[in-house]
Amino acid sequence: MRKKIVAGNWKMNTTVKEGVELVKAIAQQLNRIPEDVQLVVAPPLTHLSSVNQTLIESGCSSQIALGAQNCANKEKGAYTGEVSANMLATLGDGTNRGVEYVIIGHSERRGYYGETNEILLEKVRLALAAGLKVIYCVGEELSQREAGVHFDFIAEQIKEVLFPLSQDELKNIIVAYEPIWAIGTGVTATSAQAQEIHAFIRKTIAEKYGDISEQIPILYGGSCKPSNAAELFAQKDIDGGLIGGASLKADDFIGIASSF
Ligand code: PEP
Repeated sequence: MRKKIVAGNWKMNTTVKEGVELVKAIAQQLNRIPEDVQLVVAPPLTHLSSVNQTLIESGCSSQIALGAQNCANKEKGAYTGEVSANMLATLGDGTNRGVEYVIIGHSERRGYYGETNEILLEKVRLALAAGLKVIYCVGEELSQREAGVHFDFIAEQIKEVLFPLSQDELKNIIVAYEPIWAIGTGVTATSAQAQEIHAFIRKTIAEKYGDISEQIPILYGGSCKPSNAAELFAQKDIDGGLIGGASLKADDFIGIASSF
């Protein structure tokens, strides 16, 4: 049985105070979601300590895990403005879980900040070495889908970043399929389109890792909302969602997570 995960990518939104209020509102509605659904909230870096503390105080830090949206591709040193995977992983004080997940390879990082598969592999390796679980994002542009090259493009994103990993490392990978044309646009992939790619991703991973691919959660991301989540999550290879806009409203985020 694969883990069901609904992760909220807050991107560069909310003040610290608003973020704390948001996570409190999510915690208050946890009774609406099945116990086997793992929630992850990934606020901006400035919010991590306060949100972590709020999760501990609310007693929800096991069902709501903390995630970061990015980490550096360097271990430490003179990299102004960067935050290392190890810094994220050691945010907790030993009595709580601190940061547990990190999103790597989001299309906004690839597109706006020029993050190549090579850089992403460096990030993934450091994140795993620091003990973080990685939500690794892949997904095609609309023009690639229209040209029929989307399968090849996604296979390359998987092979170049995940295939260098060991079997043990792979067990801490969650893949998120996020078609770029569906992110923040209000246009969702149909459940059939999403399932087709999720099955393809699983098959691609199986080529190298065999049955382990059956254990890897694959999340869908791209204009997922309470009204379409149930149909998406009912697909055989869709194990949850990576949610952008709708993760900024507690009702919507919980509504999506209650759609399993
Ligand atoms: C995202 O950016 O990861 C995302 C899925 O955004 P949205 O849900 O807003 O489309």
